[in-house]
Amino acid sequence: MRAKSQKMNASSTQAQLRRARSRLLNWYDANARDLPWRRTRDPYAIWISETMLQQTRVDTVIPYYARFLARFPDLASLANADLESVYTLWTGLGYYSRARNLHSAAQSVIDDWGGRLPDQAEALRELKGIGRYTAGALASIAFDREEPVVDGNVIRVLARFLGIRADVGESQTVSHLWDLAGALVVGPRPGDLNQALMELGATVCTPRSANCGACPLGGDCTARADGEVARLPIKKKRTAVRRVEAAVAWIERRGRVLGVRRPEGGLLGGLWELPGGDLELSEAPADGLRRCLAESLGLEAAGLEAAGTVEHLFSHRRLRLHVFRAASVSGRVKRSGFDAHRWLAPSGLAALPHGGPTRKALALLGEASGLPHRDRLRETARANPK
Ligand code: SF4
Repeated sequence: MRAKSQKMNASSTQAQLRRARSRLLNWYDANARDLPWRRTRDPYAIWISETMLQQTRVDTVIPYYARFLARFPDLASLANADLESVYTLWTGLGYYSRARNLHSAAQSVIDDWGGRLPDQAEALRELKGIGRYTAGALASIAFDREEPVVDGNVIRVLARFLGIRADVGESQTVSHLWDLAGALVVGPRPGDLNQALMELGATVCTPRSANCGACPLGGDCTARADGEVARLPIKKKRTAVRRVEAAVAWIERRGRVLGVRRPEGGLLGGLWELPGGDLELSEAPADGLRRCLAESLGLEAAGLEAAGTVEHLFSHRRLRLHVFRAASVSGRVKRSGFDAHRWLAPSGLAALPHGGPTRKALALLGEASGLPHRDRLRETARANPK
């Protein structure tokens, strides 16, 4: 009896998915936003856009995408670039491992695939940084393959449309959603179908205010019929975000400022920042900073003056960063924990690839110490020597 009802549910789900297909494509034809990466069929450009769009909003990505393609118009130009220039173009987008992986994958495509991206999802997944989602997006959008995509938008639309009440944080549920998306994508225009589903989630079936009246799936939607739109998808609370405190210093010596680079790999790997480090539990920020400078650079800081604090949220980590200016430091730099250091012009660090916390710390120091103003005065003095 139970097996029979499961079979009936499965076949009604399949019928619901079949009806959704043409509605989604018709809606997409009339409503798709005109986005730069939708005006091209170049797999390389689509790859760049899909990589940038992971964890990042469309509005933020648009100017980065344009600048990136202007500087690296094809796969060979990206593969031949040095990693630091790729990071520089990525500065401000966050999740820098994406830039590192793009660069490394471009080199693999040159070495192993004759300079052309493979057109099958399975082969794409062998490239660094290309997971199941990006492989599906690329294979379907750039190569017309019937490959599904599942991201946060797709999860929300499918969970509501089909009335899926299982926890979407569970891998079993996600795997079921991939199967459903896989069934939905089979047929003509798989790339457009995937984009329609994601577009619907981004613009109509949104997390807080689904506009069911404007939805092409509205007449057939389980959550809408059952009054469960606001309740779905169900996501149970996971482990709390970890709080971390750290301190950094603006250290100036003979008009140059000390910048340090983190080693590759790990959070913010390969990026430049002000020197400092994580505080230990209950450690006073100035004490912790002195300890970190001694341990990681062999420097002894004196006259630490607090400029303020900035906050930055990573996916599982909330960072509270205490920012100081050091009146003086003694000792020669002996690095341990950073892989490079430079004494830079005051505006030099901002020009090197750096992460969100450093961007915020520099903004705070600029405001707190009047640095831009002071820099302007220096420029004026240089231009008008007495
Ligand atoms: S009808 Fe409402 S809940 Fe259902 S898919 Fe459309 S927007 Fe989402």
